Parts: sequence; structure tokens; C-alpha cells
Amino acid sequence: MPGKKAIFAKVMRAIGLPPIVTRMRSLVCDEVTILAYHRVLDIADETAYPFDPDLISASSADFRWQMAYIQKHYTPITFGRLLDCLDGKDTLPPRPIIVTFDDGFDDNYHFAFPVLKSLGVPATIFISTGYIDQPRTFWFDWLYYLYNMAAASPVQPLSFAGASFSLSRDPARRQEITANLYNHAKRLPDDVLRTEIAALEKRVGVSYPENGFPQSRPLSWKQVREMASHGIELGSHSVTHPILANLSETKLHEELTVSKARLEHEIGQPVDIIAYPVGYDFAFNEKVIEAARKAGYRLGACYLPGINRAKQMDLFRLKRLHVERYVDRSYFQTMLALPEFFS
Ligand SMILES: [Zn+2]
Repeated sequence: MPGKKAIFAKVMRAIGLPPIVTRMRSLVCDEVTILAYHRVLDIADETAYPFDPDLISASSADFRWQMAYIQKHYTPITFGRLLDCLDGKDTLPPRPIIVTFDDGFDDNYHFAFPVLKSLGVPATIFISTGYIDQPRTFWFDWLYYLYNMAAASPVQPLSFAGASFSLSRDPARRQEITANLYNHAKRLPDDVLRTEIAALEKRVGVSYPENGFPQSRPLSWKQVREMASHGIELGSHSVTHPILANLSETKLHEELTVSKARLEHEIGQPVDIIAYPVGYDFAFNEKVIEAARKAGYRLGACYLPGINRAKQMDLFRLKRLHVERYVDRSYFQTMLALPEFFS
């Protein structure tokens, strides 16, 4: 976390300013805040944790505190209600906020869902449908795991799709190198990416356990249906979590329509929103947005940081505020109150 921002946030919180700023700006700005989470998980020892710790957005205690805070100072809503407001069937409440999760890790069910249910806070989970009920985890977390396994071997450095990455077990260095590895992987054509991961798996000599890994497991359809029947809204996050902008027209259409149809089949409700996997500007483009529109989506969330003006909402470029595991209480409050400076 940048030092100056953290200090500023601590001062803001110490004098009780964030909720006051939130109320004041809601009088003059018509805004919809969207929070982006991935995983809610407690890990005792980060160095011993074999998957990507940066996918953990909050511990269960931090998540409970964050949800209680937004329930007190904001009005948590769903995208469904936002659509009703856009259609003129409803009006936006004061300080509307939407809680979202990307991917569909099973900790969303085990740790986030009980908190959301007990506080009555709605949320939206964007699901990559091809992973649900499968023992295999999401490709990016698996790639991270393979890096970690390679780092434990004498083989140096790690070669992946024409680039090489040094191997390190130092947590800070490891996060830096794996960020570069991800950046490289996310720019590959999708078929090359899958082939390279399979080849790396062989080189590292790791075989996938039959029942997967408890620390990195996708949701089951049973869990998805249970959450959907208790106020959790579902959105698409594609089928296989590819970079949509890297796909052929046919494959893009398939990722958008198959995931939507599967979710609708499972929960018996229309699915109107998609979050583009990875979601940065290289991951989606006009072609992707047009294809999403054609597939029947009405809203698209990206991963570009920011807040959305209700009256000039860019419906297929909804911005979100990222909640990361190092976001403490003062940072969380101040990021919500002053997103221009904290996102
Ligand atoms: Zn994702």
C-alpha cells in the first residue's frame, strides 16, 4: 500500500471524516460505488500458502467489518435494482453500493456468504461457469502454484511461453515476479496459454490431486443455487476465464452465451451482467462489448478502478474499487469516501 495514502487515510479516520465526506458528496454527486472482491480467506502463514495470496481480498474478520461499515453508511443494492432504476421502475437510494466477487472460489460460500446473509447485504458473484463443480482450480491460481513448486526445485529459471522468470521463495520478490508472469500469460492467445500451462505442469512434474486442493477450489452448483436463493445475484465471468479480447469471434460468442445460459439454467433467473475476466483495458474492447450486448447482457463490469456517475453511466464499462487483503479499516473508509485519490 502506498505510504502517503495510508498515512492520509489514518488521519482521515482518526478525525472521523470518511463517513461525513461520504454524506456530503452524496448530496452533490449522483454516484454508484461498486466494490470488487475475489476471495475471503484466513491464511495463517503466507509463506507456506501455495496459491496466490493476492487473490485474497480480505480476512473473514475484515470482511465482516467492511460489510457492517457499508451497511451503516451506504445502501447496498444489486445490479438488478440498478437496472430497475435505469428502466425508470425504481429510484436509486442514497449512497448506493454494490458488492461484487469475481471468479467463483468456494470461500465465497464458506466465509463471505454467511456474513452477507447475517447482515442482509446483497452481493453479486461473477462466475466462470466451466470451473464450477470441477476439482481443477482457475488457471491463474494453478499457474501461481506451478511457479511455487518450480521455485522449490533446483531448476532455474522458469521458462514459460518464450520468456524466462527467475524463481524466488521470498514473498515480496515472488509477488513481483509472478505479476510479470501473469502479465506475460494474459497477453498470449488463449490456446497457447492453455498449452503452455499444460506443458509447464509436465516440466514441473506436478500431478493434479483427484479432489483438487482445499485452499483453491471453485464453488459447486449446489452452493451457487443455495446462495442465489438467499439474495446473492449471479453474473457471468465467461466459461473458462480467457482474456476475451484475445479470442476469435466464434470463441468469444461461445464464452459469453454458454456461461449466461448455464447460469440461467441453474438459477432459473435471467443473467444480465458480465464482468470481463481480468478486466483491464487490454482484456476487453469494443468488439467484446458489442458481442456482450448481442449475447443479451445489459451491463458489463471491468476491473478499471473508479466510481460510476449515475446519470452518465457507461453501462459496459462499469468501474470498481478494488478491495485488497492489505486494505485496513482507515484505507477502506477513505477509499470509499475519496475514490479519486485511492483507486
Ligand atoms: Zn477473474
